[in-house]
Amino acid sequence: LEVIASVEPRIAEATRQELADQRASLKLIASENYASPAVLMTMGTWFSDKYAEGTVGHRFYAGCQNVDTVESLAAEHARELFGAPYAYVQPHSGIDANLVAFWSILANKVETPYLQKMQAKNVNELTEADWETLRHEFGNQRLLGMSLDAGGHLTHGFRPNISGKMFHQQQYGTDPESGLLDYDAVAAKAREFKPLVLVAGYSAYPRRVNFAKMREIADEVGAVLMVDMAHFAGLVAGKVFTGEEDPVPYAHITTTTTHKSLRGPRGGMVLAQEEFAADVDRGCPMVLGGPLSHVMAAKAVALAEARTTEFQDYAQRIADNAKSLADGFLTRGANLVTGGTDNHIVLLDVSSFGLTGRQAESALLDAGVVTNRNSVPADPNGAWYTSGVRLGTPALTTRGFGHDEFDTVAELIVDVLSNTEAGTTKAGGPSKASYVLGDGVADRVTKRSAEM
Ligand code: PLP
Repeated sequence: LEVIASVEPRIAEATRQELADQRASLKLIASENYASPAVLMTMGTWFSDKYAEGTVGHRFYAGCQNVDTVESLAAEHARELFGAPYAYVQPHSGIDANLVAFWSILANKVETPYLQKMQAKNVNELTEADWETLRHEFGNQRLLGMSLDAGGHLTHGFRPNISGKMFHQQQYGTDPESGLLDYDAVAAKAREFKPLVLVAGYSAYPRRVNFAKMREIADEVGAVLMVDMAHFAGLVAGKVFTGEEDPVPYAHITTTTTHKSLRGPRGGMVLAQEEFAADVDRGCPMVLGGPLSHVMAAKAVALAEARTTEFQDYAQRIADNAKSLADGFLTRGANLVTGGTDNHIVLLDVSSFGLTGRQAESALLDAGVVTNRNSVPADPNGAWYTSGVRLGTPALTTRGFGHDEFDTVAELIVDVLSNTEAGTTKAGGPSKASYVLGDGVADRVTKRSAEM
């Protein structure tokens, strides 16, 4: 920090403050974690300075021999850890990984002159008419993904996202009564819509998915099954999700982030069956430019960590702790979407406290509990105010929290929410944003959490 301070002291100070804040609060954001010092340090090296567009052994820049070592090793670790025939470690983020997957599926499955000439590496021969056919054919394909309010991600066909613009899209939801995925309903929708791409995976669904069933549905309608395991990759790596709950053997293409439950650097990754390997390998230049070599190096380090029995134990504790947190809420009378959890996520419906998700998120933050508001299925408050708060156990599990600590976390959250009232607008009407936190609650909760 001294080196940074000598150039821009305000950045050094913000960095110091970020560490202090992350230590002083209860980090329950389901997509966050604490990467190891080895992972963090690997990101701050000279690889940051190197350009390496292309793939291993086939670069558009000279002097990439060390980047080749890094990228090969990261991909090798990923293939071995997840049992995937092919791994592509260049995507800078989860969104990039999904874009690489989408374009690879289009390039592989849509019959156009572009495809034939790309495969023959004769791109220069493409005529204006070829490009026009390509635009027409690629822009005319269908994608079926999980809706945002059921727990899916923006990139799974949400209208305002590029995925909802580059495909004709439809969404599947969850059963209105149970909140659970209804595979028969997904199959019926797939039969009717006949998508080219069926996307499975989620950001806020607190349950495991049966990927064998999703593959059956995809096969029946001739779709490609793409699984986005960004959230639960750590549980797959740690062998908590095995058999039909492990997406990699069932999906044609699996995408992930590397920074959530997997506990690596911020980044993305694509795993693929042999059939799609050559297309995914063209992520650059299809979607990406120069890879972040320093981040690929940190991915290799994180994946090496994830191959250990310690990581398997960590992954199991993530799932056990989520159950403890859910039980802590249920015994205190709170409502959970789907009535519980069997992954790393607990989705708390805060409407029984008379609050919106936005009010609950803000009140909890005042008490040092960091969460994010989240829609619940068919949310009456929409995606901005919401009626839920999403909680995840990966970060606090890294800090060593176990059953008792997570039970206390549930107690503290219920304490804050039961002592918060919805506020009013300036004009005196009901507000979905303002709130009044009871006297002494923030101090009481902050003190208890500092002791944990
Ligand atoms: N896919 C899923 C399921 C996610 O939950 C997220 C992030 O929240 C992403 C993709 C996007 O990841 P990133 O923020 O790295 O682009």
